[in-house]
Amino acid sequence: MFEKLQAPPPDKILSLISAYAEDGRAGKIDLGVGVYRDETGATPVLASVREAERRLLAAQTTKSYLGMGGDPTFCRVIVPLVFGADAPAERIRALQTPGGSGALSILMGFAARLTSRIHIPEPSWGNHAAIARHVGLEIVRYPYFDAATGRVDFPAMKAALERAEPGDLVLLHGCCHNPTGADLTRGEWSELAGVLAERKLLALVDIAYQGFGDGLEEDAWAVRHLAGLLPEMLVASSCSKNFGIYRDRTGAAFVLGRSPEEAAIAEAQLMAEARTGYSMPPDHGAAVVRIILEDADLTARWRNEVETMRRRIADLRRGLAEAFRRRTNSGAYDFLTENRGMFSLIGVTPEEALRLRQEFGVYLVDDGRINIAGLKEDQIDAFVEAVVTVKG
Ligand code: PMP
Repeated sequence: MFEKLQAPPPDKILSLISAYAEDGRAGKIDLGVGVYRDETGATPVLASVREAERRLLAAQTTKSYLGMGGDPTFCRVIVPLVFGADAPAERIRALQTPGGSGALSILMGFAARLTSRIHIPEPSWGNHAAIARHVGLEIVRYPYFDAATGRVDFPAMKAALERAEPGDLVLLHGCCHNPTGADLTRGEWSELAGVLAERKLLALVDIAYQGFGDGLEEDAWAVRHLAGLLPEMLVASSCSKNFGIYRDRTGAAFVLGRSPEEAAIAEAQLMAEARTGYSMPPDHGAAVVRIILEDADLTARWRNEVETMRRRIADLRRGLAEAFRRRTNSGAYDFLTENRGMFSLIGVTPEEALRLRQEFGVYLVDDGRINIAGLKEDQIDAFVEAVVTVKG
């Protein structure tokens, strides 16, 4: 039977990893895969995570099943991290999930029982549409990014969502938009909240980079603002980046209900969704996050480490924009300092991206997405020179 199968198209980002590894050039630059890198190019295990792992190893007495929602303590402590200390906690239920991707899968699967359509920004992280398609949602793209300015085209976005049908699902990036790095302003989020409420749209906020933009609290502002205004909402969060536990697969799916009772029923439905997907989430990463967030000292150490990562990204953004300014004598790349998180679109065509790879050993995604954290300080000028050269 397998002779009927066709190979799926290779994942563009993952295939960059092997191409980069095989490249023997000394000055090669890897701006492809979306993981944080420190100044040495490593994606380190955070010291707070190591300490939590040490404690976990010493204290864990069983590896028996927990349940479809994972570790109840993780589910309790992750709520204030995302929704803030003043969260309407009685109307929120959280499920531990295998990464942000697991959260998105069960939330979209859940939503597909209530509605048939999802609005996704153009562009967005590729897996959003892939998961939506998988659960049978019809995908409508809303305009998001203005390539000419490197900023959000909010009037176009708002106008498109004003035309959405009541009950439609709307996917929003809570902060650090992937791949553009362009986020809404607080004023725009407030206007958007009005549209969501008036049009009775169900927001699904994906927050995968909390702490990489303006800070852990600042980056959750939009989620918290919407949670204060909307009767119902879904949120997918990821611990992959801010705890640096990518392969441990840790995230959370949140449902905000009209009442505690409705939230509890929605939670039970999410558990049923998990049961048929993966049954139960892996424990290790969530146990680490729980240990960190339950201990004030460890939390403080972790927050410092997130701040160090955030600062490095912000410094690189500044350095890159300045280097472009010097080289081009223009502010054409100033958007790099306004963008938030690890990604920006550098504005190259797939052909130019190929030239960057072949002629300069600069690896980036075909759509021109760069992972800022992949740059080392001393590579900035070479990168700028390569981009300016291929763009003629
Ligand atoms: N949402 C966005 C926008 C992402 O970029 C990612 C990671 N690339 C995720 C969700 C999910 O990450 P993970 O499943 O690794 O937690």
